[in-house]
Amino acid sequence: MSKIKIEDIQEELYKDGWSLISTEYKNLDTEMIFECSEGHRVYSTWKKLRNRRECPVCQRNEFKDQKEVLVPKKKGEHRVLGLDQATRISGWSLFSDGKLLRYGTFETQLDDEIARDNTIKNWLISMINNWQPDFVALEGIQYQKQVGVTTFETLARLQGILLNCLYEEQIPYEICHTAAWRKYCGVSGRTRADKKRSMQMLIKEWYDVSVSNDCADAIGIGKYAVDNFNKQPEIISWE
Ligand SMILES: [Zn+2]
Repeated sequence: MSKIKIEDIQEELYKDGWSLISTEYKNLDTEMIFECSEGHRVYSTWKKLRNRRECPVCQRNEFKDQKEVLVPKKKGEHRVLGLDQATRISGWSLFSDGKLLRYGTFETQLDDEIARDNTIKNWLISMINNWQPDFVALEGIQYQKQVGVTTFETLARLQGILLNCLYEEQIPYEICHTAAWRKYCGVSGRTRADKKRSMQMLIKEWYDVSVSNDCADAIGIGKYAVDNFNKQPEIISWE
């Protein structure tokens, strides 16, 4: 077996977004300082980390590496589903009693637009069945010169299909204007890309996790809806 070089370790770590802070490596039992993909310092040995990158901080963070398991809804629990809709990728977030529970993306690569919309609609129905949201927050569509009118029309048709779906499923919903939810979350930046990056940085700040911009926006939309529309029906006593 050839001797492991520090460059080999650096290269291996780099693939997973990790890095090596230490500048010296003697053997597998050498105590070294690593940095995980979320920027936490990890004090360990290459023997422990070479097969499994384990950061104790990330391991304790419920928002990191989410499990694909459904969480059954408790009695009286209130759930909000946030959706960030693009033509092919849907970012989603699910809040339970005001707290983020899950997030993810759904992607479809079908070429035909209506076939794609139909797939997204069926996915939404599954999400409703699986997670039982009491409320759905969708992002409003906006005309952007750089993107063009064709995309705007495509998104408008998709939104109509999704609204009809929510109507049929009898789930209350709200369309959240992009400027409104971004302002509420504290998103900054001039360009669309800057704003997306800003939302990703906010998610990192709030939950200590790095997510895609589709997920980040969906969490922002969900959070905005939770704090602004998530009024649970009050129990009124008529006595
Ligand atoms: Zn970490």
